[in-house]
Amino acid sequence: MINKKIEREVIRKIDTIELMEDLDICFKYFGNEIRIVCPFHVGADGYNLSININKKVFKCFSNSCEQNGYNLVDLVMRLKRCNERDTVIRYMANLAGISIDYLGRNVKEVNNTKKGLAFKENTLQYIRELNSIKEKGNAYFKERQARTWHKELLQCRYAMNYLTKERGLTEGDIEDFYLGFDSNGKEIIFPVYSTEGKIKSVIKRTLSEEKAEIGGKYRVFGTKSECLYGLKELFNKGFDISKLILVEGAFDAIALQRIGFSAVAVLGDSLTKYQIKILNRLLPKEIVLCLDCDSVVKADDPGKEGMLRMINQFSKAGFDLDNIRVIQLTGFQDPDEIPEAEFRQMYERRIPALYFYLTQQIR
Ligand SMILES: [Zn+2]
Repeated sequence: MINKKIEREVIRKIDTIELMEDLDICFKYFGNEIRIVCPFHVGADGYNLSININKKVFKCFSNSCEQNGYNLVDLVMRLKRCNERDTVIRYMANLAGISIDYLGRNVKEVNNTKKGLAFKENTLQYIRELNSIKEKGNAYFKERQARTWHKELLQCRYAMNYLTKERGLTEGDIEDFYLGFDSNGKEIIFPVYSTEGKIKSVIKRTLSEEKAEIGGKYRVFGTKSECLYGLKELFNKGFDISKLILVEGAFDAIALQRIGFSAVAVLGDSLTKYQIKILNRLLPKEIVLCLDCDSVVKADDPGKEGMLRMINQFSKAGFDLDNIRVIQLTGFQDPDEIPEAEFRQMYERRIPALYFYLTQQIR
């Protein structure tokens, strides 16, 4: 538990504007105050919470509001819907250039050497850049189309056999992820939903060997780069998203969710800026990278290139690398091929990203 004295110091040192920008909260200036939409009362409309930029106290204009007696830490907790007080204080301390020791008893100012400062500015600029990215357009496919494909799948024994017998999916998986089948193109359909629940793209996996030979097994329609595959399904199923596993493919995410892990697929071997933005908002306590064993590279280099690239991306985006870990697949190509017991062992043996990064760089 971080004590109140340290909490007060963090609040005193933090820059209110920088904090709001970092949290991606919309605000308006009113002299030496800013106003935001109040997160403390239900049905808030308009900018009714006024924050004094220098004094860092706030007041809501609504009579029915419960914000009395709360400080800036409570405000951030409410804005980010986070119940972990210490996590929020550490986040704010980091932003304020203060380092709190492991036990939460002592603080020291982080040395603003030229290098450190440059890194911080880079990070802030990158986060601003991320926050300025907007979603492109609306849903790419209609929900109605997905329903038709889903019905077709349930009626097609051949496609169902492929999914259940060859890929080991259950009927529950097929419902949860609302998989479908396009009988014209002989393709399995994976609808990809945004966090708002819109179908932003579909992945088509052909069951025709000839087509796979010519154009590859998978085709993507729409903007998959704006989604984390399986995230909406995690929300639907009420999974804990404070620990996320990032995998490459849709089948991997489905397989790991089946055995109870909060896995989402990035649908590639690097992150898009929009995906980083989603993760930045979710602020999971731990992100575990679990990429396919790259068959192009040496067999003893499981997913190395992709993971190094992602660790770089997280570092650049200002994520705390202490919260990022790596699972190295040994003896398997894809996460969805691994028997449950073995995957659990590999998960227990996950290593810190920084350790992975350093050891891989030295080799
Ligand atoms: Zn209020």
